[in-house]
Amino acid sequence: MIYCVEDERNIRELIIYTLESSGYEAKGFRSGQEFYEALNKEKPDLILLDIMLPGEDGVEILKQLKSSDSTKNIPVMMVTAKGAEYDKILGLDSGADDYMTKPFGMMEFLARVRAILRRQGRNVNVMDDVLEKGNLKVYIKQHQVIADGKNVELTLKEFELLKVLLENKGIVMTRDKLLTNIWGYDFDGETRTVDVHIRTLRQKLGGCGELIETVRGVGYKM
Ligand code: CA
Repeated sequence: MIYCVEDERNIRELIIYTLESSGYEAKGFRSGQEFYEALNKEKPDLILLDIMLPGEDGVEILKQLKSSDSTKNIPVMMVTAKGAEYDKILGLDSGADDYMTKPFGMMEFLARVRAILRRQGRNVNVMDDVLEKGNLKVYIKQHQVIADGKNVELTLKEFELLKVLLENKGIVMTRDKLLTNIWGYDFDGETRTVDVHIRTLRQKLGGCGELIETVRGVGYKM
């Protein structure tokens, strides 16, 4: 279970959506107060903490967490719009395990979440390490793609695109959803970016490229 304390609704919902679609259980809270209530009932494996919050701010919440025996071992990642070095030091000195500055891409965010959980030896990820479809195999940890028995070199974005499609087999992924997932919610490029990457991805996958279906006017599905 991952808890996210974030007062900005759009960001909170996006974070929860991203975590849930990657196989994590996640709950969002608007304030420290809501968060503490949940914390009394269930202790999460990771806490994502915004700094600027109504009422008690993220740094105060972090200090509170680290000063109590029942919560001090739960990893905390500070997620904040404030990027100043000062905040970073403040966050890390109070015992945060990681720090992320908004805006950020969702794939990077997920990678950081996984890294923290791995360091903690917390095995909460339900996602398989190998994603497969037909003659296509994607090894997530090794970042390796095998199509028809051959190794395929992909760029990071192409790899992420393929991974998201495979994780959502049979589900139509809209261009907007793919953009948000891979390029981040602040990306102001066009949805055509997705089409361009899909095209090169299909080419590189050869025969397996046909596994990616175009759903006219909507997006793509595996
Ligand atoms: Ca905030």
